[in-house]
Amino acid sequence: MIPVEFEYTAPETLAEAHRALQEDPEAKLLAGGHSLVPMLKERLAAPSRLIDLRRIGGLHGIERQNGTLRIGAMVRHAALASHVELGAVAKAARTIADPQVRHRGTIGGSLAHGDPASDLPAVIVALEGTIVVSQPGGGSREIPASEFFVDYLTTALAPEEIVIEIRIPAIEGAGSGYQKFNARHEDWAMVAVSATVVRAADGSCQDVRIGLTNMGSTPLRARAVEDALRGGALDGPAIAAAAALADQGADPPDDLAASSDYKRHLARVLARRALQEAAG
Ligand code: FAD
Repeated sequence: MIPVEFEYTAPETLAEAHRALQEDPEAKLLAGGHSLVPMLKERLAAPSRLIDLRRIGGLHGIERQNGTLRIGAMVRHAALASHVELGAVAKAARTIADPQVRHRGTIGGSLAHGDPASDLPAVIVALEGTIVVSQPGGGSREIPASEFFVDYLTTALAPEEIVIEIRIPAIEGAGSGYQKFNARHEDWAMVAVSATVVRAADGSCQDVRIGLTNMGSTPLRARAVEDALRGGALDGPAIAAAAALADQGADPPDDLAASSDYKRHLARVLARRALQEAAG
């Protein structure tokens, strides 16, 4: 279908973007457009104006500062994929769709869209990331990723706020894994699991973070698996026993791609594989 007619603005500063948002409450922010434009074409969204964020400086870089990795909201999936120090974030970004989507889609757009089937949100939740948003008037606030995703396609972002940065801890010596299951290569995840592990000097599990993609209406963290492993052995039997708890507390809905039971099965299998990848 053809989208409804809309105005287009490409401001060069955040202040201008906020002004444009305030002047036109029916406006929508445009990042990579790879979730929004399909919605326009389906007429599931009909904004009066698109405010394109691509020319705003300061939203595009990845940098390390005092033990924190700071990722600009407009960083594309392809750039994340090539930054190995981003661990599970880089591995998840590599699995997103095809090169065209990876070279247009952004981390800020992916998080703001709030789709639990997207690959990046659950990784950011598991890593205890923070989403920094700017507000009109020059203020900003930091939202823990665990509080950012409220429901299906619903986030804690207020209509006048703009995601400007995502912060994740730079975990020294961590291993990472990302395992995604889809019916066809480059499809969305039926289920995906991310794992980040840190071994202690004696080889045991010092820390572990597990994220679950498409296992509920929001991205989830598999706390039962983490609790079973933290402080104990990180060998095959321990990983297998812990991974068997991956669907605990999750309530994945049936959908056209898979039943709830099948998703639970996938979560357990993929958790074991992601942990083996991360621990190896
Ligand atoms: P846009 O589409 O521009 O925006 C999405 C929403 O976020 C809009 O409501 C917009 O107003 C809002 N927004 C954008 N930026 C900001 C900001 N900085 N602050 C506040 N609000 C903002 N994703 C996956 O994770 N895995 C996949 O396998 C996958 N497969 C795909 C296959 C296809 C064919 C397509 C078209 C997309 C696929 N995607 C997939 C989605 C893709 O990753 C999108 O790029 C991403 O979800 C949205 O990012 P975007 O930059 O394109 O955002």
